[in-house]
Amino acid sequence: MQGEVQPKPPRSPAVATRKFRILIVDDDRDSVDLLAEWLTMGGYEVTHARDGQEALRRIQTDRPDLVLLDLLIPPPDGMQVMRTIKRDRLLSTIPVVVMTVKRDVKSKVECLKSGADDFIVKPFHFDELDAVLRSSLKKRYLYTSLERANQQLRDANERLLKLTVTDERTNLLNDRYLRRRLSEEFKRAQRYGTPLSVAMLDLDHFKQVNDKYGHDCGDQVLREFAKLLTENARTTDIVGRYGGEEFLIVLPNTDGIRAAIVAERIRKAADEHIYKYKEFLVRLTVSAGVASSPANTQVRDENDLLKAADQALYRAKQVSRNRVIVDRASMPPDVLEGDLSSIFKASYEDNLGRDRDRDES
Ligand code: GH3
Ligand code: MG
Ligand code: MG
Repeated sequence: MQGEVQPKPPRSPAVATRKFRILIVDDDRDSVDLLAEWLTMGGYEVTHARDGQEALRRIQTDRPDLVLLDLLIPPPDGMQVMRTIKRDRLLSTIPVVVMTVKRDVKSKVECLKSGADDFIVKPFHFDELDAVLRSSLKKRYLYTSLERANQQLRDANERLLKLTVTDERTNLLNDRYLRRRLSEEFKRAQRYGTPLSVAMLDLDHFKQVNDKYGHDCGDQVLREFAKLLTENARTTDIVGRYGGEEFLIVLPNTDGIRAAIVAERIRKAADEHIYKYKEFLVRLTVSAGVASSPANTQVRDENDLLKAADQALYRAKQVSRNRVIVDRASMPPDVLEGDLSSIFKASYEDNLGRDRDRDES
């Protein structure tokens, strides 16, 4: 491109509001130097590459705001460089201005079709180049501003969505969202004929924690128990805070036995856990009631399922607390009659045995 750019740097263009970074791709050292000098004077930040390979590397590392591209460069040539940029999802919005010696309409059309945002025919005047650069940079600036605004909107929406579904104290799902999820899962289970279980858990004598160590300690225990719940539930389980110190787990595609195993694991983990608050070491147990559909044929909707779990929880509290009790109708009859010791730990087997005796008496 030697001698094609007018050698006399004219008046510098009005300084851009921020420094735009321009990558010049040209193998002619003299014209690169001249262009670079002039653009730098004009308030642009300039980098350059002398062949296609270096150009592609620099585009990745420098992330220019615009590429000023000569088509006749050592391989890959300018056309290939442009196609590579325009095919890349992240790079394609970087404007490419082509410097060309061809002034016929066909070449121009071909250039634009290949993805060039604009072109300038050599030899050109600096003012002409400045106008082309500004026009492309303006589009780029508008585009990136729009993109940024969109991203901010997406982030805000995500935060808002999280707020509407999350219980602030425990970071678990809140009861409103939990009920919605349960309702969806119930419908899904009915449609596909898959089992669905819920486990309702209530901390034992939680009021005493507040009374003895203060409300803040109670809050801390709730948070820590929520963590313990999440860690011991399965990734497919839906875990939420149902009320003050009451929690609910929705277990899709899970029958009563498997749900009881999850609840028992949580009960045991809670039993062994020591909550630390200031100088206090607090221990606390949890009781749980489990119900399952369609095993319990009386359950017609999600409210029936919740009610059955709540009644089982009530019985767990009555029997002794620190227990998991499965709603009797939610267990398959053959399991009720069989030996449960291989499935559950002894404490749980005792539960059901006692429970059954009581029910039958
Ligand atoms: P039980 O074993 O029968 O469940 O006894 P309990 O003491 O756990 O149950 P009770 O319903 O008598 O008391 C629940 C207590 O939970 C009363 C309430 O002040 C407390 N609570 C509810 N929500 C919160 C909370 O967000 N933070 C704190 N610190 N306490 C809470
Ligand atoms: Mg309680
Ligand atoms: Mg309660």
